[in-house]
Amino acid sequence: MKLITEVNNPLVMDRITRLRDTRTAGREFRQFVKEITILMATAATRNLPVTDVEVETPLQITSGRLIKQPGPCIVSIMRAGNIMAETLRDLISEASIGFIGLARHAVTLEIDDYYTNLPNDIEDRYCIVVDPMLATGNSLCVALKKLIDAGVSQITVVNILACPEGIERITSEYPDVDIVVAKIDEALNEKGYILPGLGDAGDRVYGTDDH
Ligand code: URA
Repeated sequence: MKLITEVNNPLVMDRITRLRDTRTAGREFRQFVKEITILMATAATRNLPVTDVEVETPLQITSGRLIKQPGPCIVSIMRAGNIMAETLRDLISEASIGFIGLARHAVTLEIDDYYTNLPNDIEDRYCIVVDPMLATGNSLCVALKKLIDAGVSQITVVNILACPEGIERITSEYPDVDIVVAKIDEALNEKGYILPGLGDAGDRVYGTDDH
């Protein structure tokens, strides 16, 4: 089942507006990314598999649900995804974090696939892939192929901003993957940046300006 959810919420929109602002930098920028990730967590985890259990309260035995073991794997598309992955893991203590390092060439937009580190039992885990920006979809396609080749069957992708071109690419190539985005922006420019966007998320999170 394909699902694209836009998290349309006043607090999320406030934080996105602050992220867009060129004056927002450093600790403030990172804090807003964390806050948006927390606010998106309910949507991002809504399909997590659960196990029915019985639990004894001080008053009686009742039924409940726990996150199925092994817990989900939060997969960070490095480097910009790392801050979202750490934030989600603070919420989901059952989760492990996997890393896929992908760098986008500034001119050709081709992807350099430089690092992968995933848990050994990844095929048994629900995967939540995090990357603040879904632009061309090139990086995400590489990451999704790696996960599916490794045997992963259930995936939710979480982006703060996405553009229609990227969403179209992912939904046509990976129709079974769920996508949760905080805001769908207007377009992609010729350099592969989202408009109006927020610029290079990695540079702004890590205070670099390589491009
Ligand atoms: N990656 C970013 O960090 N920003 C964009 O606008 C597109 C891709």
